[in-house]
Amino acid sequence: MQESNLIVRRIKDGTVIDHIEGGKGLRVLEALGIDGKDGNVITIALNVPSGKFNKKDIIKVENKYLADHDTNKLAIISPKATINIIKDYKLVEKRRVSLPNKIEKIFRCSNPDCITNSNEYIESIMDVIDKNGLVLKCKYCTRILDVNQLKYY
Ligand SMILES: [Zn+2]
Repeated sequence: MQESNLIVRRIKDGTVIDHIEGGKGLRVLEALGIDGKDGNVITIALNVPSGKFNKKDIIKVENKYLADHDTNKLAIISPKATINIIKDYKLVEKRRVSLPNKIEKIFRCSNPDCITNSNEYIESIMDVIDKNGLVLKCKYCTRILDVNQLKYY
């Protein structure tokens, strides 16, 4: 288990997203809007052998602390991910992400006729109706939604 930690270097300050389900790392980056444009060092490791989940992805973002609304997004994409906040090389906070019962304004409803896609500026609200299968239901048009086919705002 320890050896996987050596693949990417230790960081002084920032966020380490660990135990991302293998193959979901790039999706996590997209969801969090991490593109490196702010100049911070970002290290990504994909398909790291992991005793627990076979393969995992790891993302290290230096000088950035992940906020709670970002954590919610991770819960949808990779519920087993852990958030580690590092300050001065020390782990000061370790969070598990948990799937909320309700998801607000992260995804766009896939129904083009939904009021959240009109010009009314109503932001989407979706109920999580199946946490394992990641099935959502739009609160406005009641369409059943598959997370993997949804677009982010
Ligand atoms: Zn809808």
